[in-house]
Amino acid sequence: MRNKVLQKIFPAFGTINTITLYDNADLDIVQQIKKRALEQHQRFSVFESGSDISRINEQAGRKPVSVHQDTFFVLSHALAYGRQTQGAFDITSGASSRLWREAIYSGKLPSEADIAECCGLKGLNDLILDKADGTVFLPRKGQQIDLGGIAKGYAADEAVQILKKYKIPNAVINFGGTVVVLGKAKRIGIQNPFQKSGERMGDIEIKNKAVVTSGSYERGFTLKGRRYHHIIDPRTGWPAESGLLSVTLIGDSAMELDGLATGVCVLGEQKGLPLLKRRGIEAVFINDAGEVKITPGLQGNMLQKRRVCGAEFRKTKFFFLKK
Ligand code: AMP
Ligand code: MG
Repeated sequence: MRNKVLQKIFPAFGTINTITLYDNADLDIVQQIKKRALEQHQRFSVFESGSDISRINEQAGRKPVSVHQDTFFVLSHALAYGRQTQGAFDITSGASSRLWREAIYSGKLPSEADIAECCGLKGLNDLILDKADGTVFLPRKGQQIDLGGIAKGYAADEAVQILKKYKIPNAVINFGGTVVVLGKAKRIGIQNPFQKSGERMGDIEIKNKAVVTSGSYERGFTLKGRRYHHIIDPRTGWPAESGLLSVTLIGDSAMELDGLATGVCVLGEQKGLPLLKRRGIEAVFINDAGEVKITPGLQGNMLQKRRVCGAEFRKTKFFFLKK
């Protein structure tokens, strides 16, 4: 069946995912992409008891676990992003992620002792990936992997592989804000972190690129005027306090952008920018002072800037960073 535009919306990775095909749209291809994404969800999710990641976590401190080659691939890349961000992106900080997920759910702060204990369980250098055996091992009991910061990016890259295999000219993959635009240019909205969900700070026009946003505004709660959210600083075990409310990255690999966007939310602008520059990644930073800082490579791509902000700020300031 060939339609002009075909769209499929489905839940996975704890979010809403959309596949849109323009021209040469084919229902079979859309179904294949969805099936693949659901397979990856089953493999990577900490909420699925039989997933590769849940099995690794259950066997922490006990024995190595055989995993699918896709899991191995994502884990090895995630470790590399961990090293590039000096541990700001750390998939082994899963115990802290879980603790804060529960805190966000209940609206109650975890105890200092629990925060410290979970923080002590991280260990990028502990994780043993045995390529020859195809096994993964966390040596200490209680250690946990969490791929929530990278899984959608990997799945989006895979979706693009399928689209390319079938020579689909125009399509947009949007896996919970991890977006890839194939073919004709599209405008992608950037959430205004000071406003309710759906209110855009501006649009960015891209083609044949991935755009990924990580933001502390996405999930969290406020207690006595302080905000606690889901992006954890692995070094402290507390939600990140880099001053960045959101980081949007534009580049080629959605998986790399996904990992680095989460990591740069923790690292902050000063340390994040040189890393992104080295890797040829463009960025839009929105900080808690209401400043929107845009890398020079995006001049001309940033559209419809909205200067509205939260009650604390009258105006948002937009500016391009120097080369
Ligand atoms: P993202 O939406 O891609 O920024 O991912 C956020 C999710 O990644 C969180 O909900 C956690 O599951 C996980 N996470 C939180 N902090 C970190 C971190 N510092 N490194 C790696 N993963 C993290
Ligand atoms: Mg991420």
